[in-house]
Amino acid sequence: MTDALPAGLSGLVIDGRHVETAERLDVVDPATGRVVADISRGGPEHVDAAVAAARAAGEGPWVRTTGRDRSKVLLRISELIRENAEELVRLESLDVGKPVGLCRPVDVETAAEQYAYCAALAQTMDGSVRSTPFPAHAYTVREPVGVVAAITPFNFPLVLSSTKIAPALAAGNTVVHKPAADTSLSALFMGQLFLDAGVPAGVVNVVTGAGGVVGEALLRHPGVDKVAFTGSTEVGRHAAAVSGENLTQVTMELGGNAANIVFADADVESAVGAAVKAFVFNTGQFCMGGPRLLVERPLYETVLGILAQAVPGVPLGDPRDPATVVGPLASARQREIVEGYVEQAKASGARVVCGGGRPDLPGDLADGFFYSPTVLADVKSTDPVVAEEVFGPVLTVQPFDSEDEAVEMANGTPYGLAAGLQTRDVARAHRVASRLRAGIVWVNDWALLDPAVPFGGVGASGFGREYGPEALASYTRTKSVVVSLA
Ligand code: NAD
Repeated sequence: MTDALPAGLSGLVIDGRHVETAERLDVVDPATGRVVADISRGGPEHVDAAVAAARAAGEGPWVRTTGRDRSKVLLRISELIRENAEELVRLESLDVGKPVGLCRPVDVETAAEQYAYCAALAQTMDGSVRSTPFPAHAYTVREPVGVVAAITPFNFPLVLSSTKIAPALAAGNTVVHKPAADTSLSALFMGQLFLDAGVPAGVVNVVTGAGGVVGEALLRHPGVDKVAFTGSTEVGRHAAAVSGENLTQVTMELGGNAANIVFADADVESAVGAAVKAFVFNTGQFCMGGPRLLVERPLYETVLGILAQAVPGVPLGDPRDPATVVGPLASARQREIVEGYVEQAKASGARVVCGGGRPDLPGDLADGFFYSPTVLADVKSTDPVVAEEVFGPVLTVQPFDSEDEAVEMANGTPYGLAAGLQTRDVARAHRVASRLRAGIVWVNDWALLDPAVPFGGVGASGFGREYGPEALASYTRTKSVVVSLA
């Protein structure tokens, strides 16, 4: 077995030190199904030490840094991410099965841009002056919240940790990061990179381990001031309930099951292009993917015909091949979940337009967690494959007959993270966007995401917003100061 990480980096990161543990977590390469390395597995005692380090660091020189000081550090992190791009791509691809050709422009660039954007935000920690009826000078200041528990899921390890850590640092907080147990490599690598960038010891700590152990201990820790959680709705509900008991501030970025509506006036080729991107991106393990395609009836069979031709041609295979677009699912368990949904749909009479099983791949890849991009027609809104979050490369296609029906179907699940519509009618674009129950709506494309544009959920997709100035606000508290002038 070889080490996946550079020497000395497979330990937890606590107070600026790499702490190796006797208990280990296996690192499995999803492209081959093989265990390729192991990393440290933390326990509650490591959570205690990490929270203590974060609290101490938050009371040290870090709390006296200005926004401009932190901005310089964040810019350096952004630079170091780009300087270490090759290594980060290797780690994310090995850990998650991400195709290397997409990992550099998507994951690494998004993370680098996120730190650069938050470097600018760090300089906007402004308050305001308020007028009052009494003779007083009243003003507000924004302060960091304190110790942030950043809990992240398996599908975008680098991007989603940056989405939390960058604004948390910009606002002057300290962090304990708990990445997903299956995909922790980039978090441990970043633990060293923060130190190299000049982040003081203890300001960012990383504790890898099982969700029910490390995540649970972190959630319940009285030293945590804010829980920034991204993950499934099921675990999010639990995390919100525990945080409620402790009165800990929370942000909840949870599951999604977005609808993509194609109106009959859409540019069909571009609409189908957006639809394919929406469901194969990151092998469908994308909370803001578009797994439910709703097509106005006159175009229904045409769209199915184009999908049947186009989808099998999307390059699938070795994530190390720069031409690959669809890699394996991140774990055997995730593939089993996806397979379960598709088999159930087939048994209920769904029409398999393409895919519907495991591809035949040569050599080592035969044991990888691959699943062919699958398009299903003749499904009902109540079928689990439509109603629930599948989180794999599966697209269901349903016809509709009117704008009202499309909106009703799109809004017909408890989720509300993203939605999209494809139309040439500008008035309809704005009208329908305003009626869709979602944190972000894309018109005539999909997955246009940028650190400046906020996203977040409605309903079972959670609450709070990440990205944009909203992210900085969510890592600060407002304090009012009223000075009597009498
Ligand atoms: P998950 O809920 O299983 O795990 C998320 C994190 O919570 C992991 O770090 C896990 O170890 C931890 N965890 C598990 N049990 C815990 C507990 N009892 N206490 C504290 N922490 C615990 O999610 P996942 O399978 O890793 O990720 C997939 C899910 O994440 C999907 O539902 C997807 O839609 C969602 N997601 C949402 C967004 C968003 O921005 N809204 C982004 C990406 C993924």
